[in-house]
Amino acid sequence: MTEKRALAVEYLKQQRLLGGDSVIIETARRPDGQTAADAPVIEAEPAAAADDLPHAGMTFDPPSADLFATSPLQRTSSLADVAQLIAACRDCKLCEARTNTVPGEGPTNARLVVVGEGPGRTEDETGRPFVGKAGELLTKILAAIELPREQVYICNIVKCRPPENRLPQYDEIAACLPFLYRQIELVNPKVILAMGGTAAQSLLNTKQSLGSLRNLVHRFRGIPLIVTYHPAALLRNPNWKRPTWDDVRIAARLLAA
Ligand code: URA
Repeated sequence: MTEKRALAVEYLKQQRLLGGDSVIIETARRPDGQTAADAPVIEAEPAAAADDLPHAGMTFDPPSADLFATSPLQRTSSLADVAQLIAACRDCKLCEARTNTVPGEGPTNARLVVVGEGPGRTEDETGRPFVGKAGELLTKILAAIELPREQVYICNIVKCRPPENRLPQYDEIAACLPFLYRQIELVNPKVILAMGGTAAQSLLNTKQSLGSLRNLVHRFRGIPLIVTYHPAALLRNPNWKRPTWDDVRIAARLLAA
């Protein structure tokens, strides 16, 4: 193995440790079909059979509204009502620098809810989720499983942009989560796709790493929840595209089931 190849192998191993998946590097083949002795092979794991679903993962059941709930949020009966409450919300410091709140968008009868982290600059300017570069990639990912974006409910953990796109802080997430819980309750999707560590950890109420949460079928109030990389992470690290594709296909299989 050449030095460059050894470095590449080391790099790919590290990527896996960070939660990436196996990478296939084309096997060099001699004309007689034999593998060259020094072929740069990092074997892919065998693909799962088409109808094999991953094991069950975590379950999180935050209490939902009861019949006699009096809080304005619990009494909302539509996504538009929830958006109105979000627009008026001043429960955390993220309200101070926002241009617009970004409640989420999509049909109430969506079968898939996609949850990201929080609005970026373009989302803050427009009031719409996932409309920047990461959003373009999300639209393509959804198209790959034949789901037009317009049929999906797309939202975030926090509804106001964190300054300089920093990670949302614990108190900000805690203040905002009831909106998301209510949105999920109103949409009642067949599947939830949590994109990125913040979405996965907040929805499952865990500190476990994204890598350890992938490739399992979790449940949020009984709804299957799949964890994958955030589209912005994919833009930075294309090595995660393939595992994301695997995750999204699991979501697609659950949708078709
Ligand atoms: N990243 C997110 O998590 N959400 C958006 O809406 C845009 C970028």
